Amino acid sequence: MDMQACSRSPASGTEHERWRFWKHHKCPRCLEDDENGAHVLCCQDQRACTQRTKVLKVFDTRLRTIKTSKDIRRTMLAHVRAWMNGTRPYIRPTPQHLRATVSNQTMLGWDQFLKGRIAKSWVPLQATDFDARQLRNTGKSWAAALTVAIWELSWQIWDHCNDILHNRDVYDHLIDMDAKERSIIVE
Ligand SMILES: [Zn+2]
Repeated sequence: MDMQACSRSPASGTEHERWRFWKHHKCPRCLEDDENGAHVLCCQDQRACTQRTKVLKVFDTRLRTIKTSKDIRRTMLAHVRAWMNGTRPYIRPTPQHLRATVSNQTMLGWDQFLKGRIAKSWVPLQATDFDARQLRNTGKSWAAALTVAIWELSWQIWDHCNDILHNRDVYDHLIDMDAKERSIIVE
């Protein structure tokens, strides 16, 4: 039954295959349209804001754990938070050596950042910082760990959204499948 339900779903791009949970069209919290899936990450519903504050704290801890430079960590957090809140980054001027990369990331999109697409130039910046601190960590392994941390951040926000959505959505889905099964039998 599950297999059939899957094969009946509309074809979706690689992007959606990878982000299968990125599929709702209306925000279950504020009911705003969410065509591209980005809204859930920047929903201004009070429950969403509370949840984000919580998961951003976890993200901050993860960035510390993977030994991200203080400048990079603060800059990323400020921009992610600002993007989510639809405001300007609450940060003192971006450190000089990060400016070009911040503008690369802004061009790429902070929404893309939240899908794990980070501007390449973050990596050598972090590698330089590791060298300066005489750490043996590599920029490459840092980037991989960063991507995982970002996915966890996005996932926790989505999961929270799904909790709110949960009952009605699952119920509708089952009803829908049932109706399709029946229509097959009737035919
Ligand atoms: Zn919303």
